[in-house]
Amino acid sequence: ATSSPRVIYWFRTDLRLHDSPALSTALSLCKPHKSSAVLYPIWTWDPHYVYHARVGPNRWQFLLDSQSDLSASLTKLNPKQKLLVIREAPQTLFPKLFREWGITHLCFERDSDAYGKGRDDEVVKLAEKAGVEVVTEYGRTLWDSDALVRENGGKPTMSITQVEKAGAKIGDVPRPIEVPKSLPDPGDTKLGFQMEKPGKIPDFNEKQRDGEDRSYGELSGPKGDFAVPTMEELGMKKATTPHRGGETIALEMLDELMKDVDYVATFEKPKTAPTAFEPQATTLLSPHLHFGTLSVREFYWRTQDIVDKYKGTASKPPTSLTGQLLFRDMYFGAQASLAYAFGQTYNNPQCRFIPWHLPSEIDEKTGLVTGKYLVDSAEAEQYFIRWREGRTGFPFIDALMRQLKSEGWIHHLGRHMVACFLTRGGCYVDWERGAEVFEEWLIDHEAACNIGNWQWLSCTAFYAQFYRCYSPVAFGQKWDKEGKFVRRFVPELKDFDKKYIYEPHKAPVADQKKWGCLIKGDGTETEADGGKFQMYPKPMFDFAERREICIQGMKRAYSVGLYGNDERVLNGTWREL
Ligand code: FAD
Repeated sequence: ATSSPRVIYWFRTDLRLHDSPALSTALSLCKPHKSSAVLYPIWTWDPHYVYHARVGPNRWQFLLDSQSDLSASLTKLNPKQKLLVIREAPQTLFPKLFREWGITHLCFERDSDAYGKGRDDEVVKLAEKAGVEVVTEYGRTLWDSDALVRENGGKPTMSITQVEKAGAKIGDVPRPIEVPKSLPDPGDTKLGFQMEKPGKIPDFNEKQRDGEDRSYGELSGPKGDFAVPTMEELGMKKATTPHRGGETIALEMLDELMKDVDYVATFEKPKTAPTAFEPQATTLLSPHLHFGTLSVREFYWRTQDIVDKYKGTASKPPTSLTGQLLFRDMYFGAQASLAYAFGQTYNNPQCRFIPWHLPSEIDEKTGLVTGKYLVDSAEAEQYFIRWREGRTGFPFIDALMRQLKSEGWIHHLGRHMVACFLTRGGCYVDWERGAEVFEEWLIDHEAACNIGNWQWLSCTAFYAQFYRCYSPVAFGQKWDKEGKFVRRFVPELKDFDKKYIYEPHKAPVADQKKWGCLIKGDGTETEADGGKFQMYPKPMFDFAERREICIQGMKRAYSVGLYGNDERVLNGTWREL
């Protein structure tokens, strides 16, 4: 007989009780020992997240919501339990915690993003050193991403067909497992040690990227009760998103969705409107999948069971609802295989090298890139800033970027529109810069999906039809002739006639005055004539002209055909070509 287990369950991006293989494993360790086993459900407040990652207030709020909801659910199962939020980096906290609480086992759900993997490898080593047994399970994806890669011949999954084939070799997506009915008690939660201040951890910047100091507080919070922090306490700005987090909300949303059998069974992504809001045209479950407040397998099987029983003609992957989840697994597989290089062009064998707004004229004779500027960098920097701030003068782009900033979510085709526009379909700015803005503002930010989709849209990986660009005028009109979406998010144009809503600069000045908004300037000024009129900028460039320049640039870059791991990219000599 072994001594009773003393288990830490480490919650991260699996903030739920339903269908959690890792939590279930933790509980099965405790079960044979009945009341002598103890379970500590903890969250380590990682300085990487607090200081280093780009996390805007909307995603912070979503995370805190999800933690609070989880904590309440733990208490419902056992009044002595709650989520124990501890503020210290896992890499320095765990060795102390193992000793202090006499821990025998550490359990968690595996993570596959670059930072998560490195952090977990380190924690596993520390546990081994302390004689603590580590038990991990996958639970974040339909199939274990490492297994997917293995069955794909050890290669990153770059298409849905590859995912389907590799998935079939692994076997059916596992059915969701049961929600736990009870929890063991926690042990003593005394912390007789000091916090390792985040500043002492190499590589952590004490200030977030927005330059604001964050209060890191005390190990177990200001009241010493391990409570979930508030936004005020963390020194965060107020969230502006209407979308809230937590497993309870996620499961309610899923139930609501599944009531609409026709919608679920016949869902076709390309037919859903990016301009729909309140309600949006797709499920908006992505932030819940990110934080694990919804299990992806729960979502998958609830959908598949409806599809299997459906009397009419159901849609199929890749456009169907389960097809969307396959895309998610595809990007996780690509990320798992490429690990650290996945998020960048540099040293990435799968990512095409495009000399974004840098020399890229081609030499007629040699077919190689020469040193003439496609767009000079200062101009491109302005394009980037105006794109980010939603003042490009293209109302559809600006509406999407403003929705993204204020609400933290935009429709997939809206993401297509703005990502194509910033990169190879307008501004010719590096996709990595756009991905950084998304990383900060999205409530569903998922490294694998964000990076992968930016590569897709910029035609640097996954997709190569760079001559197919979205027009910021025609694409908006296709979905929303009246311009309701633009009027909602660019309210200075709300009274414009629909004839001009996507191209307000074409409206006669008399009409502009009648509708209360003058089209001039670069968007930095919002009022004209002493507040008599509002102002909205003219388009920052001629789109048709820019599209042609971009296509020519892409053509040249493709013909040279460098990838991120090419010697000439790594040592910078591509400039001399
Ligand atoms: P639904 O259409 O209802 O789909 C259901 C689920 O399938 C989604 O919740 C999501 O988990 C998954 N899914 C759908 N489409 C994709 C896709 N193309 N790639 C991967 N998973 C998909 N998705 C993220 O979850 N996080 C990101 O950071 C992210 N960044 C993106 C960046 C760009 C430039 C683009 C073009 C797309 C990005 N996506 C990202 C993918 C997709 O836009 C969102 O998953 C989707 O819009 C979320 O809304 P939904 O839950 O209503 O999707």
